[in-house]
Amino acid sequence: MKNVKQITSDMYKENLFLVPTMGSLHRGHFSLIEEAKKSGLKTIVSIFVNPKQFNDTNDYQKYPRDIQKDSMNLEKLNVEYLFTPDENYIYDDSFLDLLSSGEIGEQYEGKSRPGHFDGVLTVVNRLFELIKPKKVIFGKKDAQQLFLIKDYIGRTNKDIDLLEGEIIRDKSGLALSSRNLLLSAKGKETASGLKKQLETLKEIFLETGLVNTSIERTLLRNKDGLLEIDYLEILDKDTFSAISDKTKNFIIIIAGYVEGIRLIDNIDFRIEG
Ligand code: AMP
Repeated sequence: MKNVKQITSDMYKENLFLVPTMGSLHRGHFSLIEEAKKSGLKTIVSIFVNPKQFNDTNDYQKYPRDIQKDSMNLEKLNVEYLFTPDENYIYDDSFLDLLSSGEIGEQYEGKSRPGHFDGVLTVVNRLFELIKPKKVIFGKKDAQQLFLIKDYIGRTNKDIDLLEGEIIRDKSGLALSSRNLLLSAKGKETASGLKKQLETLKEIFLETGLVNTSIERTLLRNKDGLLEIDYLEILDKDTFSAISDKTKNFIIIIAGYVEGIRLIDNIDFRIEG
């Protein structure tokens, strides 16, 4: 594996499959890398903790980083390139404004983390410009991010094939996340409640068909208070907005805090007309 800090023009001769990450890699990331390897293209994994997508400096500073361990794991997975750019290479002198993630970028996760998705789109676009990948993969774990990036690639006519990776969870149902490293054992147990809330809401919604009632009833079941829920929503997966009579693909999204750590999760399902 080559560890590069900058992209060189000879790399453009290769057909690259980009797996963008912020490091502290876990099985969720590895599953994306395995998908990339299946394509037969050369895999480039980027590790860059993007300051522009953090609206809270403390959160940025305490975000887990372990480049040595990551590098060893990537070596084992036969990744061709590890890209670990410095901030001034990503955001060089010519860097001007953040890209806008629009109205949907200001909802849900974007409402609680103002500017987050503008920072995400900006860094993703910069990685595309620098690496010129043929393919890229993002995890369904970050559903709103995936929606916005898909939309961005579509409306800017980028010739990049976007793949979606399934959510990888531990035995308790907790979606793997680098931030889980910041939780105690008890915290992880509490955090598995996120998935339970999603399942409960799905069940009640399928029974009643009523969005608000189902959400209220679900929230009432989160009694112990250790899981502090920020939002819980049922949306149309294709528009990432309120459901309508036409909705077939549903997504339930949740965000919450456990031991002061922000966690997100989602499940999706389809109801035929
Ligand atoms: P991050 O390092 O958190 O920025 O994530 C990098 C990529 O890994 C994103 O596309 C995430 O959606 C994806 N990812 C993170 N956690 C998981 C997971 N548990 N299962 C699948 N993909 C994940």
